[in-house]
Amino acid sequence: MSVVQRAPAHIRAISPYVPGKPVGELARELGLDAAGIVKLASNENPSGMSPRARAAVAAALEDSARYPDGSGFELKQVLATRLGVEQASLLLGNGSNDILELVARTFLGPETSAVYAQYAFAVYALAVKAVGARGIEVPARAWGHDLAAMADAITTDTRVVFIANPNNPTGSFLPAHLLEAFLMRMPAHVLVVLDEAYNEYLPPALRYDSLSWLAQFQNLLVVRTMSKIHGLAGLRVGYAVGSPAVVDLLDRVRQPFNVNSLAQAAAAAALEDEEFVRRSHELNRAGMAQILSGLRELNLESIPSQANFISFRVGDAAAVNRSLLQQGVIVRPLSSYGMPEWLRVSIGLSAENTRFLEALAVALKG
Ligand SMILES: *Cc1c(COP(=O)(O)O)cnc(C)c1O
Repeated sequence: MSVVQRAPAHIRAISPYVPGKPVGELARELGLDAAGIVKLASNENPSGMSPRARAAVAAALEDSARYPDGSGFELKQVLATRLGVEQASLLLGNGSNDILELVARTFLGPETSAVYAQYAFAVYALAVKAVGARGIEVPARAWGHDLAAMADAITTDTRVVFIANPNNPTGSFLPAHLLEAFLMRMPAHVLVVLDEAYNEYLPPALRYDSLSWLAQFQNLLVVRTMSKIHGLAGLRVGYAVGSPAVVDLLDRVRQPFNVNSLAQAAAAAALEDEEFVRRSHELNRAGMAQILSGLRELNLESIPSQANFISFRVGDAAAVNRSLLQQGVIVRPLSSYGMPEWLRVSIGLSAENTRFLEALAVALKG
């Protein structure tokens, strides 16, 4: 038997994550000019990063022969002040994806299980399966999390529940009172991972203060990313806020230098640039309205989204996607999520949204 065949069955059973197609890859495949390609496939910030973050990266580059600060002191300091928490409640990650995996490696293993929703962010199932734990996928309700069914699905071997709010790829949102009621129902042996990657995109009326629940629920871990509204996806940095005892365990499992120096510097600067975040939020609100109205004109069904993307139904999504790619527009097909008739588009700059809608109209004519 080969080393590959000897790899644990739970590893061989993993289906790989399907990322948004990189611009360079499409340019190579179709011989297109990369400059003319519009990528609306990975929920990145179409405005790029804050100029303050860019300047911080340039300054940090000078010292890049040195290891980063493994404790992330300065970034944690900024986070602690802004969020009103102790540094001991903070964990940094190489993207929030790193934190999701740390949760799995710290709290899961064979003979344990984790609960997540159908159509929830694909990384939950991947992280769970990679450590040999059992994933319990709970059927969605209106494309979102059915919290009552998720609470019922918890068993004695369940150690983690993953909740994305808003969820990717469906954009569904759970109001605060439902989350709080769910937390009340959770047994102490279950860690609730509340993934708020798109939290900053919520309209003011839907905002809620999940960090205030940490005082009451020691089994809550709130996870956020700098990849989305803060525009640092390529630098890889995310953070989590939880009880110091939980954070301490996660800290023992992480790589000593899991967040690089450029990412730490950029994140600290980006968090301080409230004006950039405000403008990005506004750009997204306007772009969402533009795309929604375009989808309506094309008579396409879409799922109401509270994030910086929207999923819409086109029928033969593979064919529509092929046509979009040929026209130099990259969106995200959702067949790997069990939504073969759907595509997800990230909200871009106004001109990018227009390019997407025009290409979509062409693609639908077939
Ligand atoms: C994009 C995303 C993340 C994290 O991305 P990182 O770049 O690894 O921080 C986490 N959760 C959800 C739901 C996402 O969509």
